[in-house]
Amino acid sequence: VIDAPDLAGRIAILKVHAKGKPLATDVSLEKIARSTPGFCGADLANALNEAALLATRRSHEVISQKDLEEAVEKVVAGPERKSHRLGDEERRRVAFHEAGHAVVAASLKDADPVHKISIVPRGRATLGYTWQVPATEQFILSKSALLDRLRSLMGGRAAEEVMFHDMTTGAANDLEKATAIAEQMVCVFGMSEGVGLVHYAHQRPLFLPAIEGDALPRSVSPETATLIDHEVRQILDQAYQDALEILLAKRPKLEAIAEALVARETLDGEELEGMLRPLKADRPS
Ligand code: ZN
Repeated sequence: VIDAPDLAGRIAILKVHAKGKPLATDVSLEKIARSTPGFCGADLANALNEAALLATRRSHEVISQKDLEEAVEKVVAGPERKSHRLGDEERRRVAFHEAGHAVVAASLKDADPVHKISIVPRGRATLGYTWQVPATEQFILSKSALLDRLRSLMGGRAAEEVMFHDMTTGAANDLEKATAIAEQMVCVFGMSEGVGLVHYAHQRPLFLPAIEGDALPRSVSPETATLIDHEVRQILDQAYQDALEILLAKRPKLEAIAEALVARETLDGEELEGMLRPLKADRPS
């Protein structure tokens, strides 16, 4: 298993693959590297090739920063499927779901900042997405950062509950990610009181670099297995309740962002910043 390169590594890889490609003077490979934590060398090469294709398709002589940013997004979320038109009601549902992720994330101290929200369908299964990019390079994560990540993941389903008192299948991927994180908190990182400081997992964490010596499974008694299930469930339930509470308190903001998404499909940059920044100011300390 090859670990994802750090920021300096990503800049170096981008420079190598940018050789021979005509870059516009506004291009900052460092900025691209900052927005791509978790990318491996092949992903970065892929993004540069995509950017070159985009520039060609637009009959531009050089690759612009915008081409590069769009290419990165395509690698992150899959290709846009403009032809995959959602019905009006579905668009509203997806908009509230994504706005829920964004409002919860923006209200939390240790969640990654929201970079972009979109309800343009992408890839095979993605109807919309909320793209968060860490403010700094992270090699270890605190328990509070993991909990904030869980709350943000639960924000989509919580928004559906707040607005529609109903749920959709759209949260399956969020729940999968959240469950993996909660399991690792309990079984790998010793972050639950009930299970304590025991290392039970046999799989290496999906969201952190490899840890030495985590290859062997430890046998788990039936009692412990039940306890682990219980702790994981409790962490997830609590994260969902927290997300719900935030959205109930900030419902006008949730609605404003969802309506803006319905109208414009995508929010990013200053516009998004302007809508989310006030949440940082009045978040509970
Ligand atoms: Zn979601």
